Amino acid sequence: MTTREAKINLMGLSLPKMQAFFLELGEKPFRASQTLKWIHQRGVTDIDAMTDISKPLREKMKSVAEIRLPQITQEFRSADGSCKWIVQVESGSSVEMVFIPEAGRGTLCISSQAGCSLDCSFCATGKQGFNSNLTVAEIIGQLWWANQKLAGFGVKPAQEWSEDGKPAQNPRPVSNVVMMGMGEPLLNFENVMDALSLMMEDQAYGLSKRRVTISTSGVVPAIDRLKDFTDASLAVSLHAPNDELRNELVPINKKYPIKELLRSVSGYMEGLSDRRVPVIEYTLIAGVNDHRQHARELAVLLKDFPCKINLIPFNPFSLSDYRRPSSSSVSNFRQILHEAGYTVTVRTTRADDIGAACGQLVGEVGDNTRRSQRYRDAAEAQKENEQKFAVEQRSETAAEVTGKRFSRADNLAIEIDRPRRPSV
Ligand code: SAH
Ligand code: SF4
Repeated sequence: MTTREAKINLMGLSLPKMQAFFLELGEKPFRASQTLKWIHQRGVTDIDAMTDISKPLREKMKSVAEIRLPQITQEFRSADGSCKWIVQVESGSSVEMVFIPEAGRGTLCISSQAGCSLDCSFCATGKQGFNSNLTVAEIIGQLWWANQKLAGFGVKPAQEWSEDGKPAQNPRPVSNVVMMGMGEPLLNFENVMDALSLMMEDQAYGLSKRRVTISTSGVVPAIDRLKDFTDASLAVSLHAPNDELRNELVPINKKYPIKELLRSVSGYMEGLSDRRVPVIEYTLIAGVNDHRQHARELAVLLKDFPCKINLIPFNPFSLSDYRRPSSSSVSNFRQILHEAGYTVTVRTTRADDIGAACGQLVGEVGDNTRRSQRYRDAAEAQKENEQKFAVEQRSETAAEVTGKRFSRADNLAIEIDRPRRPSV
């Protein structure tokens, strides 16, 4: 192994794979925990800095392996503490990650693919098509970078965030991860599973399974086998109360209709050792799926399906004719579900001053599968806007720009808890 590309990237090895790596070198598996700690808890990317590993072993490691991270090409920090980073991956595409701090927690929204093949009608990532699957190192590298950028390593691990939401002194900044950036995580299954295992691994980031959430548009065969690989929390992008409407908004529904999807999700949840429920995500689009009747239908649909509902007012973007609903129609929709006994949250807009939503910009800037010049122009326009609002040059506060721009960062930081019993 002489070329850079041929070397194994230790950044992307889960604990079992790291153990296999050391076994192959003729070493003891406990070296794997040591190495994970150096990389993911101390932020070390230089094998020579791993001082509790002997020099000859380090030399051996360096001859076949290295530690490679994706590149951060841009950073935007919002007045409200939110951050967005543009991450360049080895395929040449760029993806986004977003950090949202809230009282008692810090949530990182991570991308799993550059682009997405599923083409949901309201999603900017879907509009750009699929470009590439992120590697394990590129997925976990986002969490590595967020820790590095927000606090540096060396602060306390994530367990220091107590379950009542109160942080211990000086905890790590990221307490929650949601796979809600660009891409469909379950279509990059193996890599996402390995990255999740590192997020929840005590020798690495040690995040609680309740605080790591996979969001899926409903890849049923993948949900069916999920329990064999992880016990992370689950969010399901439903967006419609019936198949006819969902076929239009989320085309994968034609293959795996709502009934099958809910059955599959129930199967996963029932296999978990604790009493968690999934989050149903419902993006409200004016005049499309936000009528009172849709809310009533949704209440009936989910009456035997324990869940929590997260309403996300649509985030407009230039390539879509859809509109964001008025706040009164959002609150009517919420009220109907609430009265039917559901626990409902509505995402409020955050990080307006750092521009376009998660997944709604860079795919067009850095993607090789752009569909048209029109898309490129729109992306350029969005980029200009974004730079205008970048923190260094910022002249308006987050509050002043509220209402002008919307962010898909709204979707973040979902809490998973038990709902009240639906009474429909
Ligand atoms: N592919 C996965 C995860 C990424 S999308 C999924 O579909 O669940 C994360 C969430 O953002 C999904 O619920 C998606 O429906 C929502 N979303 C995408 N575009 C949006 C937009 N323009 N406005 C509001 N929510 C959007
Ligand atoms: Fe892909 Fe999710 Fe966007 Fe649908 S909503 S196109 S599944 S990223």
